Amino acid sequence: TQTFLERISRHDMLNAFITVCEDGALQQAQAADQALAAGNAAPLTGIPLAQKDIFCTLGSKTSCGSKMLDNFIAPYNATVVEKFNQAGSVMLGKLNMDEFAMGSSNETSFYGVAHNPWDNCCVSGGSSGGSAVAVAARLTPAATGTDTGGSIRQPAAFCGITGLKPTYGRVSRYGMIAYASSLDQGGPMARNAEDAALLMQVMAGFDPKDSTSVDQPVPDYSVGLNDSLQGLKIGLPKEFFTEQLDSNISAVIQTAIAEYQRMGAEIREVSMPNLKLAIPAYYVIASAECSSNLSRYDGVRFGYRCQNPEDLTDLYTRSRGEAFGAEVKRRILMGTYALSAGYYDAYYLKAQQVRRLISDDFKRALSEVDVLMGPVTPGTAFRIGEKTSDPVQMYLEDIYTIAINLAGLPAMSIPAGFYDDMPVGLQVIGNYFSEAKLLNIGHRYQ
Ligand code: GLN
Repeated sequence: TQTFLERISRHDMLNAFITVCEDGALQQAQAADQALAAGNAAPLTGIPLAQKDIFCTLGSKTSCGSKMLDNFIAPYNATVVEKFNQAGSVMLGKLNMDEFAMGSSNETSFYGVAHNPWDNCCVSGGSSGGSAVAVAARLTPAATGTDTGGSIRQPAAFCGITGLKPTYGRVSRYGMIAYASSLDQGGPMARNAEDAALLMQVMAGFDPKDSTSVDQPVPDYSVGLNDSLQGLKIGLPKEFFTEQLDSNISAVIQTAIAEYQRMGAEIREVSMPNLKLAIPAYYVIASAECSSNLSRYDGVRFGYRCQNPEDLTDLYTRSRGEAFGAEVKRRILMGTYALSAGYYDAYYLKAQQVRRLISDDFKRALSEVDVLMGPVTPGTAFRIGEKTSDPVQMYLEDIYTIAINLAGLPAMSIPAGFYDDMPVGLQVIGNYFSEAKLLNIGHRYQ
């Protein structure tokens, strides 16, 4: 714990952490020492970890990357945090992220961008940018992230680490600040599949406090890591390998796929014709849900409150106007519009219908093959500031990741190789609750 705390302070310029919990971490480490000495160690006793600042942590700041919650001290622990406490781990601190998890570069954070450790002029990816940076720069052995449309997988790919977005409902969302509730899912971000399996073992499971959590037994995620991949059927969606994909990225992905072929996997092409509709459908649904979820930040109950409001309307307008950043406001406006009377059928309902078509595409493809493979991102990490002036360019970053959230499937980003000294991620998409298989596939590559 001390070593990691020292590294965190030495690499402060990476801006991976929003809050470092030095005292708390040292106390937890001491308690871990005692537990070890007494012979009652839990699975992660004494292992330092860090939490994305979207997870509520009792008694410490939980900002969600926003000025709105800059003064918010959570009065309870998220289920995920509670489970890590029970498993004996040590919490080093809270990690930087895009404001309310809206973004693909960590540039919408109230606390500033998190720098990519491979090239400090490049973004870390987002929204779990701080998590990816902290793991890649070895400021923590592993971290949590959340993924609504790619926020675990894309920063994992940009920073050269492993990130697993579990099946929707596998990990409790209780105490995980809501962005788009039907898409949000927490998961591990780690150096490799083996570590990700250890975290998944703690995070996964039914939670009566989350009505969308699934009551299904949790398998042992580590036991099958070395299983043979002989005969594994891998589908390559042809819609993933178009001219939109940088040819250099494509080359790295193809090399990785060839390696799986060498291990005995069979490759075949599949088609998912509705994938192209994923971005427009996602940005309608996610914005609609966020406009509803973020209505709770009204300047009255908790979070930021403007100075000297004249009346209630002024309190609402100025508190929200002063504390939300531009991207969050854009989403709230889009979402409110899509949900308003007269537009609901044309936008929200239509997007939900498209969502079903996309799920059906996956269902069909995954009835023919065991897993799908493709890129995580269209290119490697881009330069800080390169896409901030054009939101649509930024949204296109998610082209290979968001369809998976719309379908609720699990998917993983595996470090596949490098292009021009920057990491490239390989995405593996599996059927519902196939996390153990994905971890096995990730482990065999490393
Ligand atoms: N980049 C996407 C968005 O801004 C995904 C973010 C996420 O997964 N939280 O909505």
